[in-house]
Amino acid sequence: MTVDVEDYFHVSVFDGTLPRHQWGRLESRVGQNTDRLLQLFESAGIRATFFVLGWVAERWPALVRRIASLGHEIASHGYAHRLAYDQTPTAFRDDVRRAKALLEDASCRPVIGFRAPSYSITPRSLWALDVLIGEGYLYDASIFPIRHDRYGIPLSARHAYRLARPAGTIIEMPASTVRYGPLNLPVAGGGYFRLFPPMVMRAAVRQAEKHPDGVPVLYFHPWEFDPDQPRLPLGRAGRFRTYVGIKRGRSRLRDLLSRYESRPMIDAADDLGLRILPTFRLGEPVEVAARAAA
Ligand SMILES: [Zn+2]
Repeated sequence: MTVDVEDYFHVSVFDGTLPRHQWGRLESRVGQNTDRLLQLFESAGIRATFFVLGWVAERWPALVRRIASLGHEIASHGYAHRLAYDQTPTAFRDDVRRAKALLEDASCRPVIGFRAPSYSITPRSLWALDVLIGEGYLYDASIFPIRHDRYGIPLSARHAYRLARPAGTIIEMPASTVRYGPLNLPVAGGGYFRLFPPMVMRAAVRQAEKHPDGVPVLYFHPWEFDPDQPRLPLGRAGRFRTYVGIKRGRSRLRDLLSRYESRPMIDAADDLGLRILPTFRLGEPVEVAARAAA
């Protein structure tokens, strides 16, 4: 179970219409919404990874401490919610370095995991992995093995793997998908979780559990369970993607939490890092490479 800790106005769909300098003037709901998730997780005995935005940690370090004190892992969602492929390597490095420092200061724990805003590590931003390795991140959860207009590497592996890069290696922990014919379908969180029947997500968990390197990875955002959040102006498609199913989010989540156990990604990555996983380079069809190495 993973949570990207950001406010309702940080969502990438508002890039271009809501300038970042206005964020500070909007009503913040990330604290109360994250606390609500923490209560739900606590009563279900769930331990999770929270990919916290540096911008949030800077303003509410006590929230980061609260999450860590409940036994959850603090990981990084970058500082300013900028897409990796929209940045230069230097700007990206500054962003992930600043986020890591803020999160480590607030939590008093090492931060080794990263998830890029909107899964924005794609074929044109693979250099970002080298930056992450250089900045001391040990695992990444940003490569979505699907076809999508804004993100994804459709041929990348669906399960955890170690990725060789010029700067070294990094463990990749992709969000779970359902295999349907030749396609990987995204069902593991966000709008997909709120839109599709719950049985589809359960199928993704089952498929991941069957694979020897399978770690079911689900992802949520605190604002997804807040039906009362202010609605910001969006076009029809953006409005649908962002707000679909928000009213039924909480009851679906409660049901999900009652079905599964969860542990922080750092534990799963640690176990996998101790094992010999197929090491290969992105650029070759990695599902094939993984099979060849097995
Ligand atoms: Zn995000």
